[in-house]
Amino acid sequence: MRCPFCHSEDGSKVIDTSHDARGGIRRRRECKDCGQRYSSYERPILATPLIIKEDGTREEFDREKLLRGLRISCAKRPVSAADLDRLAGEIEAHLQRLGKAEVSSRVIGDMVINGLKDLDAIAYMRFAIVYLKLDDLQSVRSLLDRLIEN
Ligand SMILES: [Zn+2]
Repeated sequence: MRCPFCHSEDGSKVIDTSHDARGGIRRRRECKDCGQRYSSYERPILATPLIIKEDGTREEFDREKLLRGLRISCAKRPVSAADLDRLAGEIEAHLQRLGKAEVSSRVIGDMVINGLKDLDAIAYMRFAIVYLKLDDLQSVRSLLDRLIEN
């Protein structure tokens, strides 16, 4: 690594290494030429898989689109923007950890449904009715019953 002070490419001595929660590695370095100290940070760059939609077409994962969907489900509910942002972030991170080139949109739907269940029961019901394609009151009622039992 080129020294940011003297621009020497002779290298640096690593004097300390630490790992952070996001999988990154921070190294404290000392230039072998000028002796200045600096830090470097290394982190894995993860690719998000393509999303296979129900009609078989593929699209890029779009975090903003996911957030818009979450906001609609949570409209006028006591769920903070920070909570929705965190849920979208968790879903994105989960997709990246799968390490796959493509995943079904169902994978996202299932994660949304589980996430909303913890955040807000009404938002969960709104999303579930659409996502699970519940088209009669009986199936909505049985979902509601299961929700109340838990
Ligand atoms: Zn230097």
